[in-house]
Amino acid sequence: MVKRMSLEFNFDELKAADRLPSPTGTALAIMKLVQQNDATALQVAQLVQADPALSGRVLRFANSAAFGARRPIVSVQDAVVMMGMHSVRNFALSLSLVGEHREGLCPRFDYKAFWAESLVLAVATAAVAARERVVAPEEAFTLGLLANIGRLALATAWPDVYSDCLKAAKGKELLKLEREVFVIDHEDLSVLLLADWGLPGIFLEALKVSQKRMQAETPRATRLAKQILFARQLANYCLADEAYRAALLPQLQQEANRHTMDEGLLADFITEVATQWREWGTLIHVKTDVHHSLPKAAPLVETGLKLLLVDDDPVELANLTRQLETDDRHVESCLDGETALKLVIEHRIQMVITNWQMQPMDGLTLCQSLRKMTFGKNLYLIMLTANETDDALVEAFDAGIDDYVSKPVNLRVLLARIRAGQRIIELQQKLRQEHNEIERSRADLALANRRLERLAHTDLLTGLPNRRYALNRLAQEWAAAQRFKRPLSILMMDLDHFKMINDTLGHDAGDAALEHTAKVINKAKRASDIACRLGGEEFLIIAGNSDGAAALLLAERIRDAIEKHQPHNLALTRPITVSIGVAGSADPKSNWKELMKLADQALYKVKQSGRNAVKLISS
Ligand code: GH3
Ligand code: MG
Ligand code: MG
Repeated sequence: MVKRMSLEFNFDELKAADRLPSPTGTALAIMKLVQQNDATALQVAQLVQADPALSGRVLRFANSAAFGARRPIVSVQDAVVMMGMHSVRNFALSLSLVGEHREGLCPRFDYKAFWAESLVLAVATAAVAARERVVAPEEAFTLGLLANIGRLALATAWPDVYSDCLKAAKGKELLKLEREVFVIDHEDLSVLLLADWGLPGIFLEALKVSQKRMQAETPRATRLAKQILFARQLANYCLADEAYRAALLPQLQQEANRHTMDEGLLADFITEVATQWREWGTLIHVKTDVHHSLPKAAPLVETGLKLLLVDDDPVELANLTRQLETDDRHVESCLDGETALKLVIEHRIQMVITNWQMQPMDGLTLCQSLRKMTFGKNLYLIMLTANETDDALVEAFDAGIDDYVSKPVNLRVLLARIRAGQRIIELQQKLRQEHNEIERSRADLALANRRLERLAHTDLLTGLPNRRYALNRLAQEWAAAQRFKRPLSILMMDLDHFKMINDTLGHDAGDAALEHTAKVINKAKRASDIACRLGGEEFLIIAGNSDGAAALLLAERIRDAIEKHQPHNLALTRPITVSIGVAGSADPKSNWKELMKLADQALYKVKQSGRNAVKLISS
């Protein structure tokens, strides 16, 4: 049994507890630098040079076959210029993550295989991107490398519980189990982590689309998602042993055709990807001699056929039981119809062979009773009969039998009939499985969509609803307020001199101050108020069913709370305070945009008259 975690998945909490993989040191600094638009190769080179181990490896990489420089490169700066900042970032990121997580505490998580798989996916994604140019290949490399990082994250955050999950479930089932246990699956978690590390929106969208096989919003994301899917197939092919490769090739070729690659081109392409994978593997010490083999097909009848024999003659019953019982045919037996009904349910019987002439319940009545039960509808029923007249047979088929065998029983004939029945049972089972799978993926999709919707409406830093949500919700609340003739007010808040926090303590401190403030707002507001982050250090509160005077009181309470509850872990030079513009309206001729404007004006006035105060304007 796998233990269940808490009811909510809380990314921020997990991050704060330092339980997620994350790039460290120089890699983190390079990532942040490269994300800035005005970063230069020189700045990147300076960061690399500060880390001797990284410098050496960057030089080795720049001079390696994977890179293919024509002349020897001797300075780190030349290497960075030649490789480009993004390649250096990829390289540092891979080294840092791989280096920190070569091994770990999750017993059933294969860390080595994980990196081999991630690396080949990185190389394959970059190679596909280089041909099709939707995004730069260096960027695609990072995407591929990190596309499965959610798996590592689960193994890192909950080593033991995740180990149990890995034992209990395989393939698609694993995702479902993860959602049950962690309230998130590794696919969604990968996307969250990439978002947290600042990868561009199109990457996040394309990754989601490729995971959930859904529609993308933009043609670029659609194309990138297709590239990821192609790269995944390529990667699987590279990871497979010979027999598995043969099985994978037809589908891979089909996919390659969609990317305008004929047989010859595909073969060259595979060689190129495999070569680069090995070269990268040598450079960052990831083993690449992984050989996945063909997954075994699940047996159709999981534990063999479950058969029930019913006959009121104990000697014949014992004889037949002995003759029919084999390793993959479990035979239960009983002497009367009533026990038979019970055994069918208890042992999940698939086939019943019953004698016709029995006391007290005859075989005909037994068949009729079985067919009336939910569980009996799918049973395969064979009747043993000494009476083969047309009337008797019609009566038996009407009672629900599937087949009959005449008495005295010829064992060979009976076995042939059993095999025929077994084929039908297997077919039914397969149909049921397919039906279940369709149902399951439909449910998965609905769940994923709900989660995506929630993500799209949430500000990741504070966990508050974002601007998009705020404006939609305000429009709705406005319409409702008009319809039911209720007052509606809003509070527009902007932190005072916030830039100073960033300037004196850095952006991270600024972020921490924002998170802190969001928490204080959440505590101080009433349950029915809706607090959102509009962007930057600006928040909006929608106060339903409140006139201007009530909203002004609320505003003052929040302002006061923010001033009183300062964050302890930040060495602020001046306390966090907030200016709040309040607008209330009962005027039906107005609209919600008007209300926003009024609140803005009120806020502006507060800022002008010295900040850390509230002001109301009503229409
Ligand atoms: P005032 O509103 O009192 O006039 O001064 P201010 O310093 O708050 O003014 P302004 O609105 O011009 O500056 C807002 C600053 O907030 C600018 C930007 O650097 C910072 N900021 C915006 N979004 C974020 C964020 O997500 N994180 C951090 N750390 N800073 C942010
Ligand atoms: Mg502002
Ligand atoms: Mg401000």
